[in-house]
Amino acid sequence: MQCDQCEERAVYNELGKTYCKNHFLSYFEKKVEKTIKKYSLIQKNDKVCVATSGGKDSLAALYTTMLYCNEYKIPFFALAIDEGIAAYRDHTLKDLKTFCDKYNIQFRVISFKKAFGKTLDEVQNKAITVLNKKPCTVCGIFRRTLLNRSARELGATKLVTGHNLDDESQSFLMNLLKGNMRHNAALGPVSGLSENEKFITRVKPLYHMTERETRLFCVLRKFEVNFNECPNIHLSFRANVRDVLNEIENKSPGAKHGMINAFLEILPELKKKYREERKEFQYCKKCNDPCAGDICNACKQEAELCKEVV
Ligand code: SF4
Repeated sequence: MQCDQCEERAVYNELGKTYCKNHFLSYFEKKVEKTIKKYSLIQKNDKVCVATSGGKDSLAALYTTMLYCNEYKIPFFALAIDEGIAAYRDHTLKDLKTFCDKYNIQFRVISFKKAFGKTLDEVQNKAITVLNKKPCTVCGIFRRTLLNRSARELGATKLVTGHNLDDESQSFLMNLLKGNMRHNAALGPVSGLSENEKFITRVKPLYHMTERETRLFCVLRKFEVNFNECPNIHLSFRANVRDVLNEIENKSPGAKHGMINAFLEILPELKKKYREERKEFQYCKKCNDPCAGDICNACKQEAELCKEVV
């Protein structure tokens, strides 16, 4: 098969369009740049923190953010969270170091162990057996908090994440199936519902790129990247939803794009409704981060899982 735009061999074909290597890379990078501009994800006076794990999505986000920031002379750096997942995170962090050394990007690694006293592996059993909490739930709460706190302490004004179109469609469907429209209102290219100086705005440059495109981008750009999944993913609800959505996409190509485009039409109304309903912030009595009650979720979870009972 031949590229639509030249005589080179096509490496990618989707929804009736074909691309050779060079035209695919240019399509990917231009589409990300267009997403950044369309939703004003990054502005000239920002200091950008890219949340990255060294996995494919975050390396693609880091690379395309680097292109954008270099073009407009915007300062940026990478921030990784080491949850402490043996034989997995150590590999992706090694890939991240190789990447950052190659492109001369400043990066910091912050660990669960240092921040909360235990690794995810160390608290996982207790989380499942005593609290009936899945590893991804525990991981998500600690990681969100650490990313926000660290990005803020490092002076960032924007927090870029590697969420792509597949991630977003999975999150939308998961929230729908759980009847949680408030969480859906917090999705979108600029995530969150709450404006507070202690929350660093999270933005998603890969919002319109699919998982398949992101993977191919990393391969064609020859990033050293480990495509293995986290060993905990199979325990998550997300994995079930992902498989269902992939099956639908295989039978009806374009279904994920359709879902996200429809979601974007209703998103402004959802944000308005749930922003209006939001109560005033309280501040966590332990860490002083904004939260809905007396103690934030991360501090509650730390007390439940990481403190030794004597
Ligand atoms: Fe954390 Fe779950 Fe992602 Fe693994 S799959 S890194 S446990 S959220």
